[in-house]
Amino acid sequence: MSERVIPVIDHRMRTLAASLPATPIAATGLLADALGRPLRDLRISVTDRCNFRCNYCMPKEVFDNNHVYLPHSALLSFEEITRVARVFVAHGVQKIRLTGGEPLLRKHIERLIEQLAALRTPDGQPLDLTLTTNGSLLKKKARSLKEAGLNRVTVSLDGLDDAVFRRMNDVDFPVADVLDGLAEAQAVGLGAAAPGKPSGLKINMVVKRGTNDHEIVPMARHFRGSGMVLRFIEYMDVGATNGWRMDEVLPSAQVVQRIHAEMPLVQLDPSAPGETAERWGYAGPDGHHDPSLGEVGVISSVTQAFCGDCNRARLSTEGKLYLCLFATQGFDLRDLIRGQGSATDTSPSAPNRTHPLGHAASDAELASAIGAIWQRRTDRYSQLRASLPPDAQPTGGGKRIEMSYIGG
Ligand code: SAM
Ligand code: SF4
Ligand code: SF4
Repeated sequence: MSERVIPVIDHRMRTLAASLPATPIAATGLLADALGRPLRDLRISVTDRCNFRCNYCMPKEVFDNNHVYLPHSALLSFEEITRVARVFVAHGVQKIRLTGGEPLLRKHIERLIEQLAALRTPDGQPLDLTLTTNGSLLKKKARSLKEAGLNRVTVSLDGLDDAVFRRMNDVDFPVADVLDGLAEAQAVGLGAAAPGKPSGLKINMVVKRGTNDHEIVPMARHFRGSGMVLRFIEYMDVGATNGWRMDEVLPSAQVVQRIHAEMPLVQLDPSAPGETAERWGYAGPDGHHDPSLGEVGVISSVTQAFCGDCNRARLSTEGKLYLCLFATQGFDLRDLIRGQGSATDTSPSAPNRTHPLGHAASDAELASAIGAIWQRRTDRYSQLRASLPPDAQPTGGGKRIEMSYIGG
């Protein structure tokens, strides 16, 4: 009898301790990493589960009935998430994005949004609080999300053609329901723009050459002038399960060319430092950007690395801090806040030795630990990959975390 082999994607095993540094680091809002990059953006994954099986993210063959998800006790509670987020905000984070898995599957997510919406930056400003969703539950939840204090949403949508969309999500989910969710989000005000931004409501389309690239122009046509910003994302080599190949990546430059051939575009200035998307506005008859027609964005994570000003940290569902989307290891903040953390010895004869902290870390201790981790950060995976031949990936040892585990 042959034994069934279940692929193990256990990112949960490879953990780095988040120890308190020997010299405390206060949260001043001015933290910078080893390459001078500030900490401004925190992405929080609230679940590793999803009701879709997008083949570039959670392929069915791997994420099947045998896949073991995190037990509830392993997840950070809403109070724990808010506490960690508060410390990140004290270190300079201005924007928080909830993600997953599918974040709207986490029960009572509105309660977390309420708590996060109450946080303030060191100069008293509210956060830019947003969420990325596959849109399947948006029609039902848009109003309660808005009422809880969510500012904006980003909806992932990989095509308008129902057959293409159903194939991409691989659970036969109809596109019409996501479009209804988008309309509801717009109706309840989740499309309101943040100051200096063109629109709050964004649509992300992952482009896979040969699978949905023929949907680029119909998608652009559909959302032109809608008040929503459509963004095209290059298919990335995240995780270890999607069988990524370079020849399935359609470079963003070609996306822009295809749209420009039918609906002329002009390049726009970035809206903020560290912005991942390059912006292209639809031109009016005078050849200049016509704001009433809106804009598209392209996110060239593969062909144009933007590690140089990457200011994003990622907190996993069970409280690990990841410094890069392509990381293989995370730092265990949950241990620290649940009283199983460690601290670096101060004796000069043992500079790297640690001892058990012996108590749940205080906010100041948590700030110190996060500060020390960020200050040592040198991650720049996409930049390194860009210097290698096509299909080659920088090796760092260990399996990379999955997108469904850490969010986008
Ligand atoms: N389930 C939610 C959703 O789909 O919006 C949130 C989590 S999902 C992991 C976040 C984003 O990552 C989505 O926009 C998705 O399209 C994108 N994504 C997942 N795998 C990707 C890949 N291999 N390359 C590029 N983007 C990817
Ligand atoms: Fe689920 Fe989002 Fe991944 Fe698709 S991209 S499988 S919707 S987590
Ligand atoms: Fe940031 Fe890592 Fe992406 Fe570079 S590869 S932009 S460091 S998340």
